[in-house]
Amino acid sequence: MRIVLLGPPGAGKGSLAGLIKEMQSIAHVSTGDMLREEMKKGTPLGQEIKGLIDKGALVPDEVVTRLVEQRVKTDPQLVQGYMLDGFPRTVQQARDLDLILKKAGQPLDFALNMETQLATILKRLAGRRVCKKCGALYHVDSKPPKAPGVCDVCRGPLFQRTDDNEETIRKRMAIYRESTQPIVEYYARSGRLKAISGDKETEDVRDELVKILNDAKKPNQDQKPGRS
Ligand code: ADP
Ligand code: ZN
Repeated sequence: MRIVLLGPPGAGKGSLAGLIKEMQSIAHVSTGDMLREEMKKGTPLGQEIKGLIDKGALVPDEVVTRLVEQRVKTDPQLVQGYMLDGFPRTVQQARDLDLILKKAGQPLDFALNMETQLATILKRLAGRRVCKKCGALYHVDSKPPKAPGVCDVCRGPLFQRTDDNEETIRKRMAIYRESTQPIVEYYARSGRLKAISGDKETEDVRDELVKILNDAKKPNQDQKPGRS
């Protein structure tokens, strides 16, 4: 199964990816991670990418698309399928992805859009705390540490990311909406968009996901007569 994951920062895409991995045992391919890997290698391409990311700019479509193409064609762990996270980020990337996968005879199954209300995202991100030492994640209401401000795992100090404040979150959301809406529409037009709610608790998301994955495995239900 090949899926594209769409969803704003704080929508809960990370835990959704975890659930999908559990149910389908397919790999999670994040272009953010791939680009950071390339940067670490210190190649000329890596240096170019670093310059752009440090400025907060997007990496050019051709560069990211080429990396994704190489990866899906050569990584043996992706044979069973994969979910793409962070890609496509532009309609051009979505089109090129379709071309690449069509040529490979491995079309995308669907795009899964995590729809999450701004209020939920604000609550999640504003309460988020991160361990400075090990990166463990906490939430002041839903996942508080045993001792306030101290990591359960490594006893490191917890801090709040500077971009996790209401004003910045609203801005990130607006930018996300603007850039992603056309991609959502691109998949909707071709009948490949599925939605899942990010406003619910993990258990409910799990139930919804089971339904979506089962539906996706069935052969074209819409053409059967007598469907209730
Ligand atoms: P975030 O979405 O929080 O910015 P990511 O880890 O997804 O974090 O991406 C980090 C950076 O890598 C982005 O800010 C962007 O510069 C670059 N990037 C990731 N994916 C893409 C993509 N599909 N197209 C262009 N640039 C990308
Ligand atoms: Zn820690």
